[in-house]
Amino acid sequence: MSTIPHLQLPTAAISCSNCAACCCQLEVMLIGDTGVPARFIETDDWGGEVMRRLDDGWCAALDRDSMRCTIYEVRPLICREFEMGSAECRDERRGMADIYR
Ligand code: SF4
Ligand code: SF4
Repeated sequence: MSTIPHLQLPTAAISCSNCAACCCQLEVMLIGDTGVPARFIETDDWGGEVMRRLDDGWCAALDRDSMRCTIYEVRPLICREFEMGSAECRDERRGMADIYR
């Protein structure tokens, strides 16, 4: 059995408040206009708009002290639909298990 605490969490105990914003390292395509400030947007190699990411991979709109989204009210559709506790969410948390040790 894993000794990494967050891997033992039942789904109900998974929360963005006990997570290091693991999903905010994923590429986020912008679909429709939700009001994301231009300074957080860049164009990918295929001409699509995506959230700008910093060199370490995290989204430029993430507050690095609180690890919370600074544009929560206008965050992209993909971020709104990424469900806390879903299989994708658990995968991302598992993928960043090192930071919980
Ligand atoms: S949705 Fe899941 S992976 Fe994303 S911040 Fe919340 S708990 Fe972490
Ligand atoms: S816009 Fe907000 S919720 Fe979406 S990846 Fe960036 S910091 Fe995370």
